Amino acid sequence: MIDDRIIEQLKFCLEKDKKISFLVGAGLSAESGIPTFRGKDGYWVSGSKNYKAEDIGTFRMFNLASQEVWKWFLYRKSVTEKAKPNQSHILLKEIEDNLENNFALISQNVDSLHRKSGNSEERTFLIHGDFDFVRCGDECSKELYPFPKEINLTDRNKDIITESEWKALRCPKCGEDLRPHVLWFDEYYDEKYFKRDSVLKISKHTGILFVIGTSGATTLPQMVARNVFAKGGMIVEVNIEESYFSELLKNKKKGIVINQKSSPFLTELNEEIKKLVVIE
Ligand SMILES: [Zn+2]
Repeated sequence: MIDDRIIEQLKFCLEKDKKISFLVGAGLSAESGIPTFRGKDGYWVSGSKNYKAEDIGTFRMFNLASQEVWKWFLYRKSVTEKAKPNQSHILLKEIEDNLENNFALISQNVDSLHRKSGNSEERTFLIHGDFDFVRCGDECSKELYPFPKEINLTDRNKDIITESEWKALRCPKCGEDLRPHVLWFDEYYDEKYFKRDSVLKISKHTGILFVIGTSGATTLPQMVARNVFAKGGMIVEVNIEESYFSELLKNKKKGIVINQKSSPFLTELNEEIKKLVVIE
């Protein structure tokens, strides 16, 4: 059963044309078989070297050893390539269809699963980047290029990048190494690549924010949550583990923590939303 306070707030959002926003993270894609690449899943062994995600996923490392960084990303890309959207992704697509312009999806996931499940590009904000694109590692332009088709993603030998693949990973304009279009651990959020300003604007118009499957470890999601509260909105966290948000929401009148997996919650939520949009 969905909490009555949530249903009241949803009604309010539809009446006052407020956003109903979803902030999602790695927990959402875990059921699709995508590891978080942090913590105990975060180690990457290459040759005799053993890297932590926080060390190899950096611009610093890319400058020092771009091939090593690409080996890791190509392996990750090959994992996400095979993955299929799970029930939660599919429900988020249905919820978008029901809410249309009231819907916003702010995602920390770079795995293309929102695109595969059909969420629109206009209402989806990929704040940590997108594995489907690459860009110049030397920033000769800000252009994004589709991920090169020449790369073999079906049976990757994780220790080898072939010569022809390496050629495909060169910037078409200046010939420098291309880089994955993702936010690295030593980089900052901006508008051009990561929609920072758009997302902050949305957070100020959000009447209810659902936080799903994210530990909230990074600054932009934390700013989004603070803005929602500052403007009198409600925050609902759906998570089976304690997180930054559980702490933030504690003892707040407009904070609700639901210890449930995302798909059963989203199923019920979608049913309630359907009833509300029909009445409209
Ligand atoms: Zn370039």
